Amino acid sequence: VDSRKYTGIVEDCCCDYETVDTVNKEVLHPLLKEIVATPFFRYFKVKLWCDCPFWPDDGMCRLRDCSVCECPANEFPEPFKKPSRHSLSSDDLICQEGKPQAIVDRTLDTKAFRGWVDIDNPWTKDDETDNDEMTYVNLQLNPERYTGYSGPSARRIWDAIYMENCPKYPSEEFCAERVLYKLISGLHSSISIHIAADYLLDEVTNLWGQNLELMYDRVLRYPERVRNLYFTFLFVLRAVTKAEDYLEQAEYDTGNPEEDLKTCSLMRQMLYNPKLQAACPLPFDEAKLWQGQSGPELKQQIQKQFRNISALMDCIGCEKCRLWGKLQVFGLGTALKILFSVDGHDKLDQPLQLQRNEVIALINLLNRLSESVQFVHEMGPVAENIIEAQ
Ligand code: FAD
Repeated sequence: VDSRKYTGIVEDCCCDYETVDTVNKEVLHPLLKEIVATPFFRYFKVKLWCDCPFWPDDGMCRLRDCSVCECPANEFPEPFKKPSRHSLSSDDLICQEGKPQAIVDRTLDTKAFRGWVDIDNPWTKDDETDNDEMTYVNLQLNPERYTGYSGPSARRIWDAIYMENCPKYPSEEFCAERVLYKLISGLHSSISIHIAADYLLDEVTNLWGQNLELMYDRVLRYPERVRNLYFTFLFVLRAVTKAEDYLEQAEYDTGNPEEDLKTCSLMRQMLYNPKLQAACPLPFDEAKLWQGQSGPELKQQIQKQFRNISALMDCIGCEKCRLWGKLQVFGLGTALKILFSVDGHDKLDQPLQLQRNEVIALINLLNRLSESVQFVHEMGPVAENIIEAQ
């Protein structure tokens, strides 16, 4: 980011802006880019039905760039497939929304990922064990980018998220409710940055590219939104480092030994990275979050608010936005679950347990935030120069 504007420690965190930019550029961003492309991390299980409990009139978006391509079976890791699955024609590679042949057998994933169990995440509204309603999506085929989704439908979702769930606390005191607001605002900044980084510049020629003015208008001109992006990035990074032992020992098996070994090795390189550990050993200090607060009640309250936010994701009238909205909210819920555990244990003193989909959401969210920080760092000053010159 612009070093004239953003100096010192990221608010409520333990690392300064410059260090975050350097460590992200040199370590995290390149590693995460490789990690999310591996077979383990690119398939996300999600319920994509538009099942909005708040505004029943909100139909599914039919905009072209909104539809999500589900996974054709030949894209899928071997152990996920039924043994008898036939090979598919090239037709199946195009967008499959609603086509029966795109339906992937979802009952085999526990076999594919030995050692992983499906458990419900109390921070989200969806029941993650409900395999019948879930589908697999190849995230690499569905990049988060401009979709054309906007107007009152999009606006009322953001409004509901901010107004009902995270009231802005004017006081400067470090309180958990404000943390929730900052996390959502940071995520919102990141979504806007991805829209600006991959924008449909010309519909006629289908030209895609960067829209730096949009990035300036929606994010850069509000320094608080940039700060919240860095805050959210460090918060999620801390969750990942707190769960490092769990993540290091986790099973990344997709039936492709070569690729799976690479996944393990990349994860280790990220989790135990000497540069990262030296530069930013404690990205965020969650112990501060609970200081002077009644822990269990606070956790319940935030959990309730967060579940409401998760429920709102079912109202997003654009399938691809819903995919990324759900993934990232699920990832944030996973980060909260980890950071609310004490010494790697939950309140019943059970060791922290994560499900495969939680790990996939957490790491893909970290990658999105890392991309946004990198984009703001690289292109932010360019965008500001363009605006100033106008
Ligand atoms: P919006 O981004 O809709 O913002 C609404 C209001 O919120 C602003 O006027 C401002 O008051 C406030 N606000 C904005 N940013 C922040 C911030 N960082 N912190 C605090 N307050 C803020 N569109 C796509 O093209 N691709 C996507 O992948 C996509 N994913 C989405 C995911 C979700 C969960 C939602 C709810 C929407 C998504 N959208 C997506 C729509 C997109 O976010 C915008 O709503 C849309 O582009 C219209 O933007 P806007 O300029 O009206 O402002």
